[in-house]
Amino acid sequence: MEYRRLGRTEEYVSTMGMGTWKIGVYSGPSERATQVQALKRGIELGCNLIDTAEMYAGGRSEEVVGEAIEDLRKDVFIASKVSPNNLHHDDVIAACNKSLKRLRTRYIDLYQIHWPNSTIPIKETMSAMEALVREGKVRYIGVSNFSVEQTEEARAALPKSELVSNQVEYSLTNRSSETQVLPYCEKNGLTLIAYSPLAKGTLPEWLIPKAICAKYKVTPVQVMLNWVTRSKSVVAIPKSANIRHVEENMSSVAVQFSDEEYGLIGRN
Ligand code: NAP
Repeated sequence: MEYRRLGRTEEYVSTMGMGTWKIGVYSGPSERATQVQALKRGIELGCNLIDTAEMYAGGRSEEVVGEAIEDLRKDVFIASKVSPNNLHHDDVIAACNKSLKRLRTRYIDLYQIHWPNSTIPIKETMSAMEALVREGKVRYIGVSNFSVEQTEEARAALPKSELVSNQVEYSLTNRSSETQVLPYCEKNGLTLIAYSPLAKGTLPEWLIPKAICAKYKVTPVQVMLNWVTRSKSVVAIPKSANIRHVEENMSSVAVQFSDEEYGLIGRN
């Protein structure tokens, strides 16, 4: 596994993290146990970044993550998110306390605003985020689905802390962040956390040259994940509840393609 500096902090997170949307949705104990095992397998393979949110599966995603990391807490960097309807000061604090309980931990490594909410002043939300940092409940502050302009406002609303990341959709089939958000992150020392990096499982085979798969003995999924993290400012959080898929995803950054090959990927 390869690790990258988170923002301008001294923290290193795995280039391949794990997402958990739909983790926590299960038909019974055996499916839940498989989800826990998939996360544990990822950690075993060197993944230290797990992304979750209070919103996922009505809180059960955080509960499953909490179970998976119970004996491994210090090996893992937990990123969770506060929902856009909970961005008033006291709601942020209450949401964080609930997430801490579900995650069975004393602190969240990265607490992110899930989506911007223009009806609540960003200053109010960020003052709560900084209070959580002061109390030791949160280590770093991030945002998600923020435009460059919203990110600038968020940074200006943080007098005592650095904003370390922006989590946005980024994959071979959605490259919208390449025009503004990615260059901004690269220039200003923020990590771009790429969500839905596998285009939600809809594998766009036509965008992936077979010759590259053959030359490097990698699968199309591995090409997708490798490609999306070709900038050192990006880490990705593919979701999988399948142990074999987790193994495939975690070894996707074991090789590096040439600049020319990266340019060929995504063309059709
Ligand atoms: P994704 O990671 O692009 O794709 C997940 C889908 O791909 C699942 O159906 C998964 O099925 C399948 N998959 C994973 N590895 C595979 C493999 N090796 N081979 C074949 N299929 C594979 O989509 P996502 O869940 O939307 O995004 C990832 C994470 O980003 C989320 O879980 C969440 O943490 C975060 N996210 C954040 C936001 C936001 O607003 N901030 C929005 C969406 C997502 P299996 O489980 O069966 O492997």
